[in-house]
Amino acid sequence: MDRQFKLLVDGRATDGVSYFPVINPATEQPVAQCPKADAALVDTAVAAAKRAFPAWSATPVEERASRIGALSDALEARAGEFAALLTSEQGKPLDQAMYEVMGSVFTLRAFAAMRVSDRTLRNEDGNTVIEHRTPLGVVAAITPWNFPVILLMNKLGPALLTGNTIVAKPAPTTPLTTLLFGELCRDILPAGVVNIVCDQNDLGAVLTAHPDIAKVAFTGSTATGKKVMASAAESVKRVTLELGGNDAAIVLDDVDPVQVARKVYGGAMTNAGQICVAIKRAYVPESMYDSFCDELARLAREAVVDDGAKQGATIGPIQNRAQFEKVRALLDDAKSRGTVIAGGDPLDRPGYFIPPTIVRDLDDDAPLVREEQFGPVLPVLKYSDVDDVIARANDSEFGLGGTVWGRDLARATDVARRIDTGTVWVNQYLAIDANIPFRGSKQSGIGGELGEAGLHEYTQAHIINAVALEDA
Ligand code: NAD
Repeated sequence: MDRQFKLLVDGRATDGVSYFPVINPATEQPVAQCPKADAALVDTAVAAAKRAFPAWSATPVEERASRIGALSDALEARAGEFAALLTSEQGKPLDQAMYEVMGSVFTLRAFAAMRVSDRTLRNEDGNTVIEHRTPLGVVAAITPWNFPVILLMNKLGPALLTGNTIVAKPAPTTPLTTLLFGELCRDILPAGVVNIVCDQNDLGAVLTAHPDIAKVAFTGSTATGKKVMASAAESVKRVTLELGGNDAAIVLDDVDPVQVARKVYGGAMTNAGQICVAIKRAYVPESMYDSFCDELARLAREAVVDDGAKQGATIGPIQNRAQFEKVRALLDDAKSRGTVIAGGDPLDRPGYFIPPTIVRDLDDDAPLVREEQFGPVLPVLKYSDVDDVIARANDSEFGLGGTVWGRDLARATDVARRIDTGTVWVNQYLAIDANIPFRGSKQSGIGGELGEAGLHEYTQAHIINAVALEDA
């Protein structure tokens, strides 16, 4: 691709101080050159966002909402172009890339329709107490490589609607769709309201330590999230951390194993398992363990593993070499501890391809069970007692999501209540919706995104407590 990409700083398309190649994970060939910022350019971007803040935060919310609506329209108009670029830098099949782009369009629209209203906490005996909410200032939006488009929109929509300005920094392996989105921002927003800088994993820390950043909205790994939180402590920045997960699927004994195996397979393998809330371990009753495992293996063998740009591909590559090596190491370890019944070996071709892999007969302390694999390798574990399996599911430092599968909805919902995570889906997976809050418990995060609660994260609650002066 000979297309040129530019950073966005103070409303201007800006050259990098240097350039680095973005690699297509399906071919290991460069997609394009990415402009790289340095600490001085980060300073310039933060200063531009700070200058833009007074006018943007004073702009009527209807006008801000209409600009967010215009961004969503512009994204929709170029959805095909965004999806193709997303597939080439991220690897996911084109239909999944289109789903992410259109999800981003709807997310922006949902935020454009939201409003933060004043709450009257007391209005009696001449005393009025109102809670209203003010924007924070400049927000650093730091995103990972698995869903580079929609995870940016989850931050940009609420930040802009509530009157904040932004410096966004995508992951170094998937920066191009963010830069393309910057072109839309340049046309639609006042200068400085959204700025985009790219790095090679060296500028996130510059942003989180910057004294003029009021809030860090971060999605990424738990290890990096801890660094973000420590760095933000220096000036007591607000932080939202959306971190890693190790979601359990608990299959109850009243389901049809073939029907539910298909759904669990989808929850584990979509985006080649690189979803924070992918099913990362499945617990299946002893009575249906063999048939459930066999059905998962059958589905895994049916998958079409190929370049996401190829028609019919159902699973693309792992997004980058480091992650590919991590998944491969977990898989190699699991081979010696359990039984691989589908997949198991990387494809012998260029690209970071690992086919969907099902591993059975592992113990709970296997690294593939305890760690976040973030790849298309699913361990399937056996249980015989529901209380015990709930304890096993909860025995994790992570607490992001999870699923429960049962024909008796009341019973399944009761099990869901006992899973210690931010979200539990019953008989469905990945039902993320811009109007419903999403957050992690334990080491999966702090604060939340989406919904009214997500909107509030970009504001300071401000109490006005008034009484009339008595007559002099
Ligand atoms: P990562 O933590 O390596 O990187 C995320 C971002 O942080 C990148 O932009 C990176 O450049 C930046 N970064 C690196 N060092 C930094 C520092 N010291 N300070 C600030 N920023 C820094 O994560 P990743 O490997 O890109 O993404 C995969 C992880 O993200 C998985 O653990 C996954 O579960 C998690 N994730 C969570 C959610 C969620 O909503 N909870 C969603 C998607 C992904």
